[in-house]
Amino acid sequence: MQTLQGIAVSPGVAIGEALVVDNEGFRIPQRFVARDAVQSEIRRLTEAIAGADKEIAANRDTVTKQLGKHYGAIFGAHLKMLHDARLRREIEGMIRQKHYSPEYAVSRTMRRYAKVFQSLDNAFMKERSQDIFDIEKRLLKHLLRDRREGVGQLTSPVVLLAHNLTPSETANLNRRYALGFVTEAGGPGSHTAIVAEAMRLPAVVATGPFLTDVSGGDLVIIDGNLGRVILQPDEETVAKYRYEAEEHRGVEARLKSLANKPAVTSDGVRVQLCGNIEFPYEVEQCQAEGADGIGLYRTEFLYLNAKKEPTESTHYTAYKKVVLAMKGKPVCIRTLDLGADKLSDDAPASDEKNPVLGLRSIRLTLRNVPLFRTQLRAILRASDLGNVQILFPLITTLRELRQVKMLLSDVMEDLEESNIKFDRNIKIGIMAEVPATALMLERFLDEVDFVSIGTNDLIQYTLAVDRSNKDVAPMYTASEPAVLRLIRSSIQASNKVSKPVNICGQMSGNILYTMLLLGFGLRHFSVPPASILEIKKVISSVHIKQCQRVARRVMTMEHAQDIRNYLKEELRKQVPELVP
Ligand code: PEP
Ligand code: MG
Repeated sequence: MQTLQGIAVSPGVAIGEALVVDNEGFRIPQRFVARDAVQSEIRRLTEAIAGADKEIAANRDTVTKQLGKHYGAIFGAHLKMLHDARLRREIEGMIRQKHYSPEYAVSRTMRRYAKVFQSLDNAFMKERSQDIFDIEKRLLKHLLRDRREGVGQLTSPVVLLAHNLTPSETANLNRRYALGFVTEAGGPGSHTAIVAEAMRLPAVVATGPFLTDVSGGDLVIIDGNLGRVILQPDEETVAKYRYEAEEHRGVEARLKSLANKPAVTSDGVRVQLCGNIEFPYEVEQCQAEGADGIGLYRTEFLYLNAKKEPTESTHYTAYKKVVLAMKGKPVCIRTLDLGADKLSDDAPASDEKNPVLGLRSIRLTLRNVPLFRTQLRAILRASDLGNVQILFPLITTLRELRQVKMLLSDVMEDLEESNIKFDRNIKIGIMAEVPATALMLERFLDEVDFVSIGTNDLIQYTLAVDRSNKDVAPMYTASEPAVLRLIRSSIQASNKVSKPVNICGQMSGNILYTMLLLGFGLRHFSVPPASILEIKKVISSVHIKQCQRVARRVMTMEHAQDIRNYLKEELRKQVPELVP
């Protein structure tokens, strides 16, 4: 049994067999073979070794010719290893005696060898483990041939273990079979994390290297509440986790009684509590938990999940589903926020050095007007079906906002000319997620109907900490005083002119911050659907004066960790059942 610590990004517990995804995203599908297939499977192994031999020998010859014998010898060593009699005996033994598939036997054996090299003190010898992985990869390529499948085609329940997963790979996982995932890399605010939560997949990221310690089929527990991963757990640990999962279901069931009640503080202040969605199917959960609306619909997943650019009708069909399901409650559709970590798998490789500071989000759509107009037309058409609002992401300057509004008017005129119905008074809002916007919010408020504070990006840009980077993950936190000041001033500026302001970043779904945000004057929250009931529970357990006192106290504090400790204590006093 081995325990790893990472960052918990999506709650829940998953227990299942590991599927190890290598850096090329392919997987080993089969673990066992039938007894009478052993002989033919050994033949497959022999053929794979012969195929790998040919490739390596060709590499050796080319490199020797171009760079000399010395470099060619690297591949000579690979060939020796490939034909090592002991290695071959071990692999064959696993197939004959344990009936492992050749793929599984190769992977298990080679990883065991690699681990021995990695445990050596000598840096040169450690590096040799890479040679072993190289040979493993080659053999697997020959064994799997066209059965090489991406993580999108799962056929049995597994927990995925990968170096990293992109948001679009995550979005394409089959929810029937993916039980949860762990990645060596990744950060707490990444979109991969957000998608995992949307799909209700327990997930842990940023564990650091561990993939060489596991083989496909090993039992793994993912504790998405505490950020723990347990490899090959003993029976006692499995039983403990099964029990905890049961307990958790009990808490969830008790919270269910709040689903039909509005979010009101104990002193009678009504708070609007909406859900964030990425996929139309999430609207059902929002409804079931009594959401007051959809506060953020991240539409970019229409692009990330599609093989080609969505048409106006694809957009419209998705929006119609959500708008009709919400039966007149507000649905805030955010225009395309692509770029940075949200790129489709087919996107051409970019040499952009700082994608988070580059051509992303509204900047990208303003450069691609036909794409933008298509989406705006569909949103406007959907506005005739219910209560639709439109939200523009990453607005940084007033000029940008005016450009966007001009384009919107233009699209409205087109629709009018064609006698297509839409809501002429559709509410227009911007995300406040760049410090420049938060600082200038008073001016922006003159030109918009509402504001949505995107704390995920606001934290990133205020603290200069990449939200997807595990190496700076401990610095990525909403509780830094500088971030809190920007949030508070944005709420106050909007309240002053009586324009609705909500927070739709992950922070608003974290119960730790609910009292503080109420104390800052926030009355509109938009949270991941899985957090709606917990947040409602906190709201209904506190009164505003108490929250204001908490907010005043926090604003005198200097350190993020002190703030978190204090908030946890205050929360424990009000809702002890939710604070471990
Ligand atoms: C945010 O930045 O807080 C936000 C809600 O948008 P996203 O996470 O999609 O960048
Ligand atoms: Mg954002």
